[in-house]
Amino acid sequence: IIEVKELQKSFGSLDVLKKVTFSVQPGEAVAVIGPSGSGKSTMLRSLVHLEDITGGSIYINGKTLVENGKYVNGADIRSITATMGMVFQHFNLFPHLTVRGNLELAPRTLKRESIKEITARSMDLLTKVGLADKADVYPSTLSGGQKQRVAIARALMLNPDILLFDEPTSALDPELTGEVLRVIRQLAEEHMTMIIVTHEMNFARDVADRVIFMDNGEIAESGTPEEIFNNPKLERTRMFLSRE
Ligand code: ATP
Ligand code: MG
Repeated sequence: IIEVKELQKSFGSLDVLKKVTFSVQPGEAVAVIGPSGSGKSTMLRSLVHLEDITGGSIYINGKTLVENGKYVNGADIRSITATMGMVFQHFNLFPHLTVRGNLELAPRTLKRESIKEITARSMDLLTKVGLADKADVYPSTLSGGQKQRVAIARALMLNPDILLFDEPTSALDPELTGEVLRVIRQLAEEHMTMIIVTHEMNFARDVADRVIFMDNGEIAESGTPEEIFNNPKLERTRMFLSRE
């Protein structure tokens, strides 16, 4: 469902991604781990075209987003990236909209369905993340864990084929991470295709089908959680895991 070939990204003379190649199968949950600055966020952002890549190819759902550094036209970029939802570390909710307003903004703007259908889905998704009672409040009245669950529900509103998470629990107090991880775990059980950048090693071990260890702009090692956590091939993987 995702195929990335020799993805390169540089900021000026800084090579942040150095020929990164990987693929994600439908229904797979892939965890990406690695030290700060190793390029994890840049890799995720490249998939949804929040970054212009410098070289390489990205294919999503069999469609070319960029091939050998050359992007398809703007309308095609938008239709391809629209099949992915992204959840950020800092929630990025709109403060002037209620919880429901946050969920319904994008689908209402797209006008592909009736308001009734949109409202029904937003209430369903809020129920799914355990926040049906918060539909009409503003984000500022919510805890961090609640905000992040709203952000996940919002990302699901457009029925994405793929969900991307960039450290969804790093901004949360430890006692609030569990409620967010539970929602992501449930999505994994429903076979949502996901890439999850995370520092939560226990979570990655439990939930991911596959783990990618990034270091210094490269995929240093990848494998099953068992291989990466119990039997890493590389010394630098071992070093990283011992520090986490
Ligand atoms: P963290 O775990 O801290 O989130 P990361 O693995 O997500 O780190 P990235 O955010 O992808 O790392 O950054 C990789 C490198 O790219 C870093 O050296 C960072 O300073 C650099 N970088 C990222 N964005 C930009 C930018 N807009 N301009 C210049 N350099 C950037
Ligand atoms: Mg990051």
